[in-house]
Amino acid sequence: MIKFLDLHKINERFRDEIDARFKSVLDSGWYLQGKENERFAQNFAAFCGVRHALGVANGLDALKLIIRAYGFGPGDEIIVPANTFIATILSVSENGCTPVLVEPDPETRNIDPKRIEAALTKKSKAIIAVHLYGQAADMASINKLAAKHHLKVIEDAAQAHGAIYHGKRVGSLGDAAAFSFYPGKNLGAMGDAGGITTNDTALYEKIKALANYGSDRKYHHLYKGVNSRLDELQAAVLDVRLAHLDADNNRRREIATYYRRHINNPLISLPQAVNETAHVWHIFAICCPERDRLQKFLAEKGIQTNIHYPTPPHRQEAYQEWREQHFPISEKLHREVLSLPISPVLTDEEAAQIAEAINAFV
Ligand SMILES: *Cc1c(COP(=O)(O)O)cnc(C)c1O
Repeated sequence: MIKFLDLHKINERFRDEIDARFKSVLDSGWYLQGKENERFAQNFAAFCGVRHALGVANGLDALKLIIRAYGFGPGDEIIVPANTFIATILSVSENGCTPVLVEPDPETRNIDPKRIEAALTKKSKAIIAVHLYGQAADMASINKLAAKHHLKVIEDAAQAHGAIYHGKRVGSLGDAAAFSFYPGKNLGAMGDAGGITTNDTALYEKIKALANYGSDRKYHHLYKGVNSRLDELQAAVLDVRLAHLDADNNRRREIATYYRRHINNPLISLPQAVNETAHVWHIFAICCPERDRLQKFLAEKGIQTNIHYPTPPHRQEAYQEWREQHFPISEKLHREVLSLPISPVLTDEEAAQIAEAINAFV
């Protein structure tokens, strides 16, 4: 059987390095806010090309903390893509802000900047640009719009660690960026983990305090903060894996290129990269009008696939207030997308087997 994602195999490649770093944490007796966090934050900031990086507990917290640090709350609106993982939207709701959904470009599947302006009101405060499936959003257009309307640009880079857009890494393309290091992401920990990057020193200091009980120094509390920290063991794993991220992403690109050359079934449409470096292929989502039948067909051939995502956020029970809203482009994508296995440990033989199976689907 070909697994959708073999996390054991992914981390097994670095067993010796991870073992050594775990041993050093164990020997140090220091488990939070220590040397591993410092080292990873420094390396990740340098990697992204920004002044500051900070580890937090998970990707949702990273988004929530950025919105909170800007002081956005009830009465404020934040633009979000209609087709994203629900966490993007939850981060807005949890701050008491109103998420305003905007349809994607059907080709890139990223938020369509041409549709953002129509969704803006006097209450609009920010745009969350999600780099969906690993491909950077159209940041040039988004930043231009944001400048014109005095909005903050927050990147949701949870799926796009390492992608390079117009010569710059994601995480350095807006005012602040949120990352998830959930185990299945391109840069993944061995449990929950997240991070923030920004060039804004005041914002960084505020988020750092907010994530640590609102404290800037021990037992001194500026804000009614939360506890959202990255632990030393996770920081150690992430630092080991960061050194291999570009190589891992290149392997993903090779597989994506292979799929795009060899899958040629008229029932299937393939994802395109606007630019090769701007895509790190967290997800390789094909479209098929008979998606469920295709998924079953592949399962019978021993190929595990996944759906990102089966139900759009505005059709979730959690957001009943959107029951009457329609986002036909997003709805069509949710009906048709199917994610093929893609990872740095997928072999050439497995990729060939997958392409062959898809071409045999009638
Ligand atoms: C994974 C993900 C998140 C949430 O990250 P967690 O670490 O699971 O909280 C947010 N946004 C997007 C687009 C994601 O894919």
